[in-house]
Amino acid sequence: DANVIHLVHTREDFDQQVLVILYDLTESRHMEQMQVDFVNNVSHELKTPITSIEGFSETLLDGAQDDPEKREHFLKIIHDESVRLTELIQDILSLSKIKKDNDSTELVDMETDIERILQSMEVSIDKHHLKVEKSFFGNKEVTINRAKVNLILNNLIKNAISYNKENGTIKIAVHHDEIENRLRVIIEDSGIGISQDDQNRVFERFYRVDRSRSLETGGTGLGLAIVKETVDNLDGNLTIDSDLGLGTTFTFEIPL
Ligand code: ADP
Repeated sequence: DANVIHLVHTREDFDQQVLVILYDLTESRHMEQMQVDFVNNVSHELKTPITSIEGFSETLLDGAQDDPEKREHFLKIIHDESVRLTELIQDILSLSKIKKDNDSTELVDMETDIERILQSMEVSIDKHHLKVEKSFFGNKEVTINRAKVNLILNNLIKNAISYNKENGTIKIAVHHDEIENRLRVIIEDSGIGISQDDQNRVFERFYRVDRSRSLETGGTGLGLAIVKETVDNLDGNLTIDSDLGLGTTFTFEIPL
């Protein structure tokens, strides 16, 4: 254990031994603090939509429902905030499941899975006239932890849509290196990009750059934290390359 130092001091003239154990608690204190911060953040993030749902439904019950325009407007807010709440809960559950989930793998056709993810996001892709280009190198069939790889892909592709520009492009390249037994996926967008300072922080839980610049509303600030923690859990690595105003490329590589 790197955090524990054992010192054994022997005095030969006395038939005695002294055992000193020093624990370095810095790391575990840090983890504890991170957990406290996370719970505080979660509570705050959950409270915001709930307060809004409570407030607007009360206003409706107090008479606003008699005005068709107000009714429509407030119901829309209640609906959007409920969707947000669901997304938050899903992301929080994903985060807490990453380490606990089993390590089972299965044979997956990458093209089929990516196609399915893209289909689920078709409405946004079409709405913003985005072009998607896919390319595959090596055998498309790989033995992977499907749930985890899909979680990574889902979050990266969702961001490539949300932080793109109208008429933008998304390039997805899958490299299956059968000699090194590795899978590398590159997701490149022609979107708003991320500044150097923010690149160092976007993987933090709840860190968000500037909501107003995204094509799609919503988002929880947990997507990239989920991606990073899942890639780590698969013993892989994740890199980001971005130019503000020009676009962003995320690359993850995992051993097979
Ligand atoms: P969110 O739910 O806000 O998308 P993420 O953790 O997925 O949360 O991303 C954190 C922040 O990083 C986002 O708020 C956004 O500002 C920035 N970001 C993520 N992906 C991209 C991208 N492909 N292009 C530009 N900015 C991005």
